[in-house]
Amino acid sequence: MKIGVLALQGDFEEHVVVLRRLGVEAVEVRLPKDLDDLNGLIIPGGESTTIGKLAVDFKLLEPLRRFGQENAVWGTCAGAIFLSKDAHRRQPLLGLMDITVERNAFGRQVASFEVDIEVPLLEKVAPGGGPYHAVFIRAPLIVAVHGKAQALACLEDGRIVAAQQEHWLATVFHPELTADDRFHRYFLQMAGYNKRVE
Ligand code: GLN
Repeated sequence: MKIGVLALQGDFEEHVVVLRRLGVEAVEVRLPKDLDDLNGLIIPGGESTTIGKLAVDFKLLEPLRRFGQENAVWGTCAGAIFLSKDAHRRQPLLGLMDITVERNAFGRQVASFEVDIEVPLLEKVAPGGGPYHAVFIRAPLIVAVHGKAQALACLEDGRIVAAQQEHWLATVFHPELTADDRFHRYFLQMAGYNKRVE
């Protein structure tokens, strides 16, 4: 199992650390050829406009789209924005997931927060694991899911913070910043990793 982490900008190193801790080969992706032989790709948090512009400059946009048609892709925060079809603004997007996101939906950097959320799907990786402690940093919101996209987790007031559409996963918070690796393990299952990771 080999998972790539898009390493143009943002907190890609934290994802690499979690993947390696879980016994998975992790590769930093900066060039189209880095996508060869990967079983899945994580797009980290950062600034979605910067990630998008660099993806254009590095001629990665089309290779990433082609990769995403066939393989598991998970976007966290800015990565979720980049995966979406609609971010309410003009900026380069992969445009894979049928979700509409609103950038900086909670306000400025100081409005960052942490909260426990219920994520029923995590029962699949850790039965009885309990609530999930989610870290939001200038996070977007998933304001609508369309087509085959489904909401996976919501805040108490019902606002959507995680969604899945077939082999694509979007979380607006940062699972790479806590010790709880259930989302990484869930993504590895999506990417076809069968070995049990505890
Ligand atoms: N605010 C950033 C954006 O809109 C996302 C923040 C993050 O990834 N933590 O791209």
